[in-house]
Amino acid sequence: SLDRSNRLLQQAQNMIPECSQTNSKGPTQWVQGVAPTHLERGKGSHVWDVDGNEYVDYPMALGPIILGHNYPAVTNAVEQQLRDGTMFSMPHPLQLAVAEQLIDVVPCAEMVRFGKNGSDVTTLAAKLARAYTGREIIATQGYHGWPDVWMGQTSLDRGIPDVVGDLTESFEYNDIESLEQIFTAHPGDVAAIVTTPVNLAEPEDDFVQRMREIADREGAVLIFDEILTGFRFAVGGAQEYFGVTPDVACFAKGMANGFPISAVAGRRDVMQTIEADDVFYSMTYAGDALSLAAANACLSVIREENVTDHIFEQGQTLQRGYNDLAAAYGLDHRTECVGYPPRFSAQFSDETGKPDRLAKSLFMQECLERGVLFSGNHLLSYSHTDSDIDHTLDVYETAMETVADAIDADDIDDRLDGEPIGATLRQRTGEDG
Ligand code: PMP
Repeated sequence: SLDRSNRLLQQAQNMIPECSQTNSKGPTQWVQGVAPTHLERGKGSHVWDVDGNEYVDYPMALGPIILGHNYPAVTNAVEQQLRDGTMFSMPHPLQLAVAEQLIDVVPCAEMVRFGKNGSDVTTLAAKLARAYTGREIIATQGYHGWPDVWMGQTSLDRGIPDVVGDLTESFEYNDIESLEQIFTAHPGDVAAIVTTPVNLAEPEDDFVQRMREIADREGAVLIFDEILTGFRFAVGGAQEYFGVTPDVACFAKGMANGFPISAVAGRRDVMQTIEADDVFYSMTYAGDALSLAAANACLSVIREENVTDHIFEQGQTLQRGYNDLAAAYGLDHRTECVGYPPRFSAQFSDETGKPDRLAKSLFMQECLERGVLFSGNHLLSYSHTDSDIDHTLDVYETAMETVADAIDADDIDDRLDGEPIGATLRQRTGEDG
């Protein structure tokens, strides 16, 4: 049953705007009435909802849970630190241990500073670049968090003064001309290129390398937002995977297996800008000992075991399996898992190529009813086993068959037992959370 889930959602509607801490983890992303609304326990690759239903988890909190829920090495490190205290009036020595690990594995890292969320460190990185170069314009691509500097030039800009958005210019991934145009329009005033090293599409024509070359030519700081790719594409992040070293990089997800800590890591001269009298960065909880203990343990496991290999292998089996099933059921023009094995997304489109919310909703419903937490996002962990993947592909086959039948019979609506994704509450795309 989903009784408790549905009751909790009703309560949330009175108290919590969007019913969730982030839109991307809220009810708009799911088939309402079929999907649980609250999860309360996880172990390895499995989670349990508030009614006790068990699922194989694929969104994995959208990336932070890189080892698996309640992973023993991390849980033990945190429990031990918990008994010794969580916050102090001076840095805890674990800060040095974690900094050292990051400097060891991340190619661009000479110095490190911590935050709590991704937005803390992406926003710090942009501020550092502006202070370091004495320039104002930020050229950007990809999602970097909720602060005004990132959202001011998007369609989600209400509440943000125009002047803030005017200083951020967007370019398109794999469109080097769109980046060049920003430098042409603002000669000598682009402080930084802030970019996710890769999104779902593969880089074309050495796009990552060419961003590096343009930053060098123009004297701009190259900042990689590795919040999603860090520790996942390679131990040293996408910069290691693609062999292109930025000046500064931002990390969060995957760093501490779900504990709240983020980091900006980069070239010594840029990082030392934080020490300048008139540059300021501070927060209450940066450096809390629990998250540092979690990060220290998590990074050790990632370095000592085949975590990224495992994630690649399991991801590849599942992604290929999905795409093969789509082809077998004649749906390869309607749905595809796109992206890289450590992070891919199942997308659905109608015959005109537009996103197909209904087909995705039906596929999701069939998965949820069979114990697979399917949101489209696949962010595999070290804990996803062969039997998880086998079971999931069986479920995907059933779901694929149902969707193929429903498309043939033109009766997706009739087969949905709940409200399709985004039907009653506004659904946003994007990668927040
Ligand atoms: N950058 C990327 C690539 C992200 O995926 C996210 C969060 N999904 C952010 C930045 C923002 O991080 P946060 O939500 O922790 O502020």
